[in-house]
Amino acid sequence: MRILVVGGAGYIGSHMCKLLAGAGHEVVVADNLGTGHREAVQWGPLVEVSIGDVAALGPVFDRYRFDAVMHFAAYSLVAESVTDPFKYYQNNVAATLALLRVMRDKGVARFVFSSTAAVFGEPQQELIDEAHPVVPINPYGASKLMVERVLADAAAAYGLRAVALRYFNAAGADPEGLIGESHEPESHLIPRLLRRAAGDTLDVKIFGSDYPTPDGTCIRDYIHVNDLCAAHLLALEYLDGHAGFHSFNLGNGTGYSVRQVVTAVEAVIGRSLGIESAARRPGDPARLVASSALAREVLGWRPALADLQTIIASAWRWHQAPKF
Ligand code: UDP
Repeated sequence: MRILVVGGAGYIGSHMCKLLAGAGHEVVVADNLGTGHREAVQWGPLVEVSIGDVAALGPVFDRYRFDAVMHFAAYSLVAESVTDPFKYYQNNVAATLALLRVMRDKGVARFVFSSTAAVFGEPQQELIDEAHPVVPINPYGASKLMVERVLADAAAAYGLRAVALRYFNAAGADPEGLIGESHEPESHLIPRLLRRAAGDTLDVKIFGSDYPTPDGTCIRDYIHVNDLCAAHLLALEYLDGHAGFHSFNLGNGTGYSVRQVVTAVEAVIGRSLGIESAARRPGDPARLVASSALAREVLGWRPALADLQTIIASAWRWHQAPKF
């Protein structure tokens, strides 16, 4: 297939391009390089375009005649979404709507969408499955949920075939070290710890040690970026035989506390980082762990790099020699 990877210069999008190319698909990247990296585009041509730019997107679709679109281009910082919600609704919702309109007009019917565990809001159960209520508590989660609704309606009205994949905590990097996670500023726990380990002057603290969890720190479900991408490929194949809109949760189903992550990072790098605790970060639920039973059952998805130290070791390889 020929696939348009929107946001293919970013962290998850670039790993997706590598996987697609390895599976024999043809990849074209659309990215405005706002947060992505030109150097991460290695498996197909880069079209520098913003997804809301309908006039620029139309000719790209005419030229390449895509079989499917995978959409990774979004702002994803929860705190920023609270202080600047318009930025999130404009890019994550309005611009995505423009992209979907071009797809409909050009007759491209398959769409795989990066959604998030943030659509669920405060967790009401140990393992969050697809039946969990969707009550986002910040504009980031709301923006992703709005697109999911748009996709369901577009499936009913226009015959769009779409899958939304709700990621829990994406982590890790290409085991070959060609690409990795490079955000500026970096807000995520594992890359912050590894950048500090690699000599960066980042002041990394544990945000909150008084949560109702066994060691008092927040629990998250870390999932290797390549495992996420593998689910996208399965979702694409699933859309061949299935019309409509479908959503799946993607995590390992195992929670690790912030303190456990710090310990695992220290084991991988072979020394202590001396990380101290600080106040809670506003908006963090105590525990977010996925049930991915549906993705396993329906898509046949099996995370291959589920072990936390394996995930961290792949990211460490990147952070010791980042190429961008
Ligand atoms: N966290 C932390 N220190 C940091 C960055 C993150 O203690 O410097 C915590 C954060 O409060 C959360 C967990 O690590 O409980 C994972 O945060 P991250 O930003 O990586 O992902 P999120 O769960 O917000 O998507």
